[in-house]
Order: sequence, then C-alpha cells, then structure tokens
Amino acid sequence: MNNKRIYLSLSEESGYEEEYIQRALKSNWITSGGPSVDEFENKFEDYFEQEKFVTALNSGTSAIHLALILLDIKAGDEVICQSMTFSASANPILYQNATPVFVDSEIDTWNICPINLEIAIKGRIKKGKKPKAIIAVHLYGMPYKVDEIHSIADKYNIPIIEDSAEALGSTYKGKKCGSFGYFGILSFNGNKIITTSSGGVLIGNYKETKDKAIFFATQSKDKAIHYQHSEVGYNYRMSNICAAIGLGQMKMLENNIISRRKNHFFYKDIFHKVKNAKLLDSLNEDFFSNYWLNTILLETQEQKESLRIAFEEANIESRPLWKPMHLQPIFEKYPYYGGQVAEDLFEKGLCLPSGSNLTKEDKNRIKEVLINFLN
Ligand SMILES: *Cc1c(COP(=O)(O)O)cnc(C)c1O
Repeated sequence: MNNKRIYLSLSEESGYEEEYIQRALKSNWITSGGPSVDEFENKFEDYFEQEKFVTALNSGTSAIHLALILLDIKAGDEVICQSMTFSASANPILYQNATPVFVDSEIDTWNICPINLEIAIKGRIKKGKKPKAIIAVHLYGMPYKVDEIHSIADKYNIPIIEDSAEALGSTYKGKKCGSFGYFGILSFNGNKIITTSSGGVLIGNYKETKDKAIFFATQSKDKAIHYQHSEVGYNYRMSNICAAIGLGQMKMLENNIISRRKNHFFYKDIFHKVKNAKLLDSLNEDFFSNYWLNTILLETQEQKESLRIAFEEANIESRPLWKPMHLQPIFEKYPYYGGQVAEDLFEKGLCLPSGSNLTKEDKNRIKEVLINFLN
C-alpha cells in the first residue's frame, strides 16, 4: 500500500523540546524532580490562573492513585467511578484494595449519568457504606455535566476526582476542565493533546496537599538526616527530562486545541446531513470540548465493524469506544448502577482519526471512506 497510515492521535514535536532538554541535561538535573519540573508546574499553575496547586508526576494514573491516597481511601472503602472510561481511571481503586462502584453514562455527553449517580449513592448508603469519592471523566475531551454531577456530590458531601486526562483545553461554562474537582488530574501520555512522553499532574486546592503529594511521590521520606520512613512511599515524581519535553510541548497547546477543534468541524460538515450516524457534539455552548478524539455512534454493531474495516482497508486507524469497566473481566464482579447506555455506546461507537497534525490529504482520504460508506 502506498498510502501512509493515518493514526487516531499521534504525538508531534513543537520544535522547542530539544532546547529545553539540552538545558536540563546541561544543568545536570537528569533525575526525577528538578528545575524543569518546577517550571512545568508553574506554567500549569499560571494556566489555572494561580488558583490551583499543581504537582507533576510520572503519569496520569499515578495522579489518580495519589488523589485516592490523599483522600484516605483504604481497603474496603467504596469509590464510585464512571464505567465508560479507560481502565486507568479505575485501576488505582484496586491499588488501594478499595471497591469500585460503576455508574452508567448519559447520552448527551457520554459521561457519568447524574440520575444513576444519585441512585448509586443512595443504594450504597442503604447497604451501610457511603462512597468516599467519585471519579468523573471528561471522556474524549467532552466535559461531563459539571453542575448536575457536582451538586449531587455536594449534597452527599463526597469529593470528586476529576479525570481530565483527555480534556486539557476543554471548558465548562468558560471554566477550565481540571479545576472543578476536589482533585483534578491531567495526563501527558503520548496520545494525549500534549505529551511529556509519559507524565501527568495532580491539581488541588491547597499547598498542604501538594506538599503531601510530593512527599508520597518521592518515597515518603521523613525529615531526618538518614532515610527514615513512617508511611508507604511511591516513586511517582515526574522526571526533569520529561518536564523539559513538556515545556516544549506547552508552546503548541493552543495550536493543538485549534487543530483538534478544526477536525471536529471537518467531521461535523460530513455528518450533519447523515441520518444513520451521529457525531458526538456539544449539547450547548456551556460544553467546550478540545475534541481530543472525534467519536461517532452508528445504528448497529455491524455497521460500526464494517466502517472500521473500510477504514482499515484504506490504511486508516479507527477504534471502538472504550469498553465500559463493568463489562471488563477484571471489574465485572463489582457493583454497577445503570442501564445499557455505556454498553450501547461501546457496541455502536467508533473513534475517528483526530490528531493535531492531520493534513489536508489525510482528511481527503478519510472523507472518501466516509462518503463511500455513508452512501
Ligand atoms: C490517558 C488516561 C489516563 C491515564 O493517564 P496515563 O498518563 O496514561 O497514566 C487516565 N484516564 C483517562 C480517561 C485517560 O484517557
């Protein structure tokens, strides 16, 4: 095949990374933590208008794990989690030997359903255990129903961990995703909107919790001349070299968001006249998505599979939506509240190529497959 492969979401250099990496190497901070890490955190604290404390870590998964530890989630505790998500949202619950309780999605944003969330909370309380945290996810960059979800969480006084791994640059009612939860997290894995090769941040409201996060992330060293530990420690701090990459990547964040949103309007143009396939779009202007990935819902599983194969034949990557957690072998024994929404999305939904670097030719090739298929 002559045509080069078009991927769902590919990392790309901004051109500034090498300069930052050189500087980090020359300063001899070739380790975890260091001046580039501090600078990276400062840049994100600026991004959140100095209203947040940001801790740089080696992954988004570590950030979720530390959020659970900082919320004192222990063995036997229950944590509610959006079922429709990537497994990294839920795995840290098991690291703590806590019990995940999964909740279905709603059809407007494909994220956690407020009605089922409240049913789940009431159901667990009735069984004698109030959930200790809620993990809500802005899937594919689309903000969840922030007002509804947070007002339920507030009503029962349960903290939200806002998994914003896919939603850097998204906003809800003009406010940045990542800033709504008691804790927020971002990921800079290679497929995300910017990358540090691997990395993440924990976003919190207090200096004390940031200090405590760094303490846990650097092996929980007590204040002593020798190495002394009275709590379990982790090796979760971001590497100074990764932070240098991140500083270079941040220079193109705004452009990446613009390109991804342009991709969305490219797809919207194709799908707005189509009846048997629906593109996930903002419910109204309160929901501003970075459109990290564009996703569509077809009418049947067979249609989805034949479109996926048609793309594959043209050497274009597409992928089914995340398989809900309550259907995963590792998680299926845990409680689930909801109906068929997430399951239906998984069966009939497809992620489309959405990289920041899709060229005009790429788009033409994608369009050709879609037009052929939709006719
Ligand atoms: C990528 C991702 C994560 C985890 O981030 P890593 O940096 O890969 O550990 C968590 N949640 C969601 C929804 C993600 O997409």
